[in-house]
Amino acid sequence: MVTINGKEIAAAVRSVLKEEVAALKAAHGLTPGLAVVLVGENPASKVYVRNKAKACAEVGIRSFQHLLHEKAAQEDILGLVRELNESKDVHGILVQMPLPPQIDSAAVLEAISPDKDADGFHPCNMGRLMAGMPSLQPCTPLGIMRLIEHTGTDISGKDAVVVGRSNIVGKPIALMLLARSATVTICHSKTADIAKRISGADIVIAALGRPEFIKGDWIKKGAVVIDVGINRLNDGRLVGDVEFGGASKRASFITPVPGGVGPMTIAMLLQNTVTAARLQAGITV
Ligand code: NDP
Repeated sequence: MVTINGKEIAAAVRSVLKEEVAALKAAHGLTPGLAVVLVGENPASKVYVRNKAKACAEVGIRSFQHLLHEKAAQEDILGLVRELNESKDVHGILVQMPLPPQIDSAAVLEAISPDKDADGFHPCNMGRLMAGMPSLQPCTPLGIMRLIEHTGTDISGKDAVVVGRSNIVGKPIALMLLARSATVTICHSKTADIAKRISGADIVIAALGRPEFIKGDWIKKGAVVIDVGINRLNDGRLVGDVEFGGASKRASFITPVPGGVGPMTIAMLLQNTVTAARLQAGITV
């Protein structure tokens, strides 16, 4: 069994991006910019936003933080998004979720220009992903694909089981695996006998947010196991959705939590920002 080192792979992605950003600056005078909108004081969101700004700075992407009050009105946020859509310095826009209850999150996501949709959550980009057209794609699934590619696994013809059907992880990763000719099963809270489905899977994507739900002895020998879940236990430990100890005895490759999928998500956000900047400037090489 090999533990997939997401931290190391993400660092390699960031270092390639750093060179790419420097080259864009030198050859085209273009500095990619990412605007992050945070509404309210959610402590976890604040940490995410801070980490994103730090990661941007590391690779030479400019970041712009917009902090709005917890009680901000829908129109305040939509107005800011419209401004950012027009800004020449901003190539990617990210609105940190969750938004306070008075805000219609779907309407906010839809207001972001699809060309600047760094998170790949705009219905237009989701539709393009479904249709197999080029688009800005959601960061966590993009990162998962990179991790699977890193193992050297030939995805075509493999049986993949995705547990979770959210718009940000489960559905898009299922579409990406399908586009690479895996046979994909999507499981959710109403699925009967998940253990049986997982026991036949060559690739397992666990994205349900339930600590160590997937037991080691469900895993087929030699499977590639990607654990997306991040769960904080009462004793403070951070664990994934897969029982790592047991699963690592059967898997050929497995991601740890932390240090697996998490670091890749931010690296793919940076990559999306650079891609968006290139596309907006019409730079294809
Ligand atoms: P959501 O809560 O949006 O979706 C969870 C999905 O899991 C739902 O489709 C739900 O089914 C399904 N589910 C829940 N309980 C069960 C169960 N007992 N059996 C089978 N399926 C179940 O979560 P997200 O997709 O946003 O995130 C999933 C996990 O990944 C979380 O732990 C989150 O923290 C983590 N995450 C990690 C990221 C990273 O960068 N590493 C990024 C994003 C998320 P149903 O639809 O039927 O309710």
